[in-house]
Amino acid sequence: MDKRKFLKTTVIASTGLAAIPSMLLSSCTSSHKNKDNSTPTDEKIAITTFTLPKLNYNYDAFIDTIDAMTMEIHYSKHHQGYVNKLNKALQENAVSGNNIVDILKNKELPTAVRNNGGGHFNHSLYWDILTPGGNMSDNFKNLLHQNFGSIEAFKNELADAGKKRFGSGWAWLCQDTDKKLFITSTPNQDNPLMSTADKQGHPILGIDVWEHAYYLKYQNKRGDYLNNIINIINWQKVEARML
Ligand code: MN
Repeated sequence: MDKRKFLKTTVIASTGLAAIPSMLLSSCTSSHKNKDNSTPTDEKIAITTFTLPKLNYNYDAFIDTIDAMTMEIHYSKHHQGYVNKLNKALQENAVSGNNIVDILKNKELPTAVRNNGGGHFNHSLYWDILTPGGNMSDNFKNLLHQNFGSIEAFKNELADAGKKRFGSGWAWLCQDTDKKLFITSTPNQDNPLMSTADKQGHPILGIDVWEHAYYLKYQNKRGDYLNNIINIINWQKVEARML
């Protein structure tokens, strides 16, 4: 299937994803793997198999902010790689769970599940909250004012979280257990769902600050990428993810 046809198909296939954000994170099927047709002792463990979520825009949807080649490689190579390695790691470690969120909240995750499961969750969220143009609701603006003083202060704090993250990682907007908004960052493919996070919470917005997310267009200027990506956030989806 050529790229244009593939993207057209994915747009149709992903209709409705926004309405039920949790669907994105549980886009999976359960299956029993039994390579030699024997009856293994772990046959009753239903290992979850994850798939790449569909994008509801084209690779060139944000070329003023993120170039099409970065989008294509990031989605079809990097994210697909996390999905493939996650499925392999779940099989090898006999880790099961209803969805990726439940799996990532486990306290003692095998390293390969932590890294690749985080990679799958984080990128699924990232693709979902990007849009060619989105406005905040008055309700969400008020929440940002209440929690951060102003919308500009919120944007600056979020960008700073990404700029100050040493090496590869993510900047996050989350809700804590009292549903209050806070900003944090995590290294590598960790995220605030994990027990290893500096501050655990419910992530509603995640910005990838790995070099693969911006290097073709921005080279070493991570700050410019962070200052620009804030303009292509789908605030309706971010708000819809709130608990
Ligand atoms: Mn990435």
